[in-house]
Amino acid sequence: MNTKEQVTVEKLYHFIGGEKKEGKSDRYGKVFMPSTGELMALVPYATAEEVNETVEIAKKASIGWKKTSVGKRIEVLHRFRSFIVEETGKIAHLIGQESGKTISDAIGEISRGIESIDLAINAPHLLKGEYSVNVGGEINSYSIKQPLGVVAAIAPFNFPFMVPVAMTSMAVACGNAVILKPSERVPNTALYFSELWKKAGLPDGVWNIINGDKEVVDAILSHPDIPAISFVGSTRVAEYVYEEGCRHHKKVAAFGGGKNHMIIMPDADLDLAVNSFIGAAYGAASQRCMAISAAVPVGDKTAEVFVAKLKEKVEELKVGTFDDKSVDFGALITQEAKDTVIKYIDESIEEGAYLCVDGRNPKVENENGFYLGATLLDHVKPHMRIYREEVFGPARIVVRVDSLEEAIELINNHEFGNGVTIFTSNGSAARTFTENIEVGMVGVNVPIPIPVGYHNFGGWKRSKFGEGHMFGPDTARFFTKSKTISERWPESKITDDQVAFDFPSNR
Ligand code: NAD
Repeated sequence: MNTKEQVTVEKLYHFIGGEKKEGKSDRYGKVFMPSTGELMALVPYATAEEVNETVEIAKKASIGWKKTSVGKRIEVLHRFRSFIVEETGKIAHLIGQESGKTISDAIGEISRGIESIDLAINAPHLLKGEYSVNVGGEINSYSIKQPLGVVAAIAPFNFPFMVPVAMTSMAVACGNAVILKPSERVPNTALYFSELWKKAGLPDGVWNIINGDKEVVDAILSHPDIPAISFVGSTRVAEYVYEEGCRHHKKVAAFGGGKNHMIIMPDADLDLAVNSFIGAAYGAASQRCMAISAAVPVGDKTAEVFVAKLKEKVEELKVGTFDDKSVDFGALITQEAKDTVIKYIDESIEEGAYLCVDGRNPKVENENGFYLGATLLDHVKPHMRIYREEVFGPARIVVRVDSLEEAIELINNHEFGNGVTIFTSNGSAARTFTENIEVGMVGVNVPIPIPVGYHNFGGWKRSKFGEGHMFGPDTARFFTKSKTISERWPESKITDDQVAFDFPSNR
């Protein structure tokens, strides 16, 4: 929006060099409260010049932070962690207000974010190098991991806390300065926890937030003093960020969208499968990259029983405001997001899908919120758009197959490869599945196969571009560069005065 308009809503700011900074451009974005549809705040969109100024501040801060001992750095992370724990209620409320997700879901996301801080607290261990003694001619050789300097993180809307924290905690622990660009739809949470970094004693300039849209992302992508970018968002933008970042010789980890299947074998515990599907598929109004979007029952008999049981439970799901404890999930992020999902549902019905549960007109208290009820479509076919594309809302589908092999082929042919799970009581089927499925995160009899924070996280195919990580030990590798040093401190004066052309290890 343009800005010179008289507005009464709060104007947000950037957080640069330890201070709140007003935006210098006259461009602002609107932040809505999805539960009520109300305008909550205006977020400034920074210019490339503001990005450049922030990089300069971060660069200066990164020098001192790199020299701070890793133990002292970790003390700051410990304090940051305890402030997050203390303020969980307040942060969860903020997440609920700006994203629409329920308080219990927001608390869940905070605990996952804390897991990534716990991993970053292990940085002293993960940063240890390797050492070889006497590789030749009294030479010792060792490798160390050094921070990169200034790194950037670009975040999506659907986890206002967990994803920004998971992308950046290890970067801070490794001795880098960070510039975070939160989603312009949910900037409040990150601005809030920036204050907690400061309170925890992080030197000014090590942690910065620059708000904005594509203009900020493009300025980050082409900036010569940002050697690494962690991105999470839609596949379309992830691919763009990866290609542009690589073109500018950066390390890029770009996490994109998903289409996550749940296979239900004839021998599965169907009640367990149904209950697991409900939470994994509809939780957070299905706005999770790891949400299950397609149930794949094997055999018609399995499908009939599974769909009948599922339909009953889906009909009971309640949608409503983020702070109503009786609801199962909240509103979608924007009216536009809601309209997009309704379009997928309408189109799939026209194409021949069977509408089992219709959530297009849910009963809600606040008619202005961006609500869509739980929707279930059966007999969806692989050529339909609702199957091919990621649907970021509570329209979930059933695709029937006749065998495990057909299920594996179906999933392996999909462009995404984020998460998948199988429900079965047959170890051999589970083994065939885990061995042959082309997906990055695989579950057996678990609803969402998200690895715990100390294992690497990430999909395959068009769900992730680049080799970096945001959870797991590989994160420490991503946010550092390796240096190998060979040094000689001879016991006696070197008498060898001849020029040598061979490798010292040959001596
Ligand atoms: P998005 O791609 O619209 O936005 C993500 C970020 O990119 C935002 O900060 C946004 O400002 C920026 N951006 C948007 N358009 C841009 C453009 N044209 N050029 C440059 N930058 C641009 O994603 P979203 O809607 O905020 O988030 C939802 C998506 O994120 C879903 O696809 C979801 O699957 C994905 N996601 C993936 C993971 C994962 O780990 N794989 C985790 C969470 C979310």
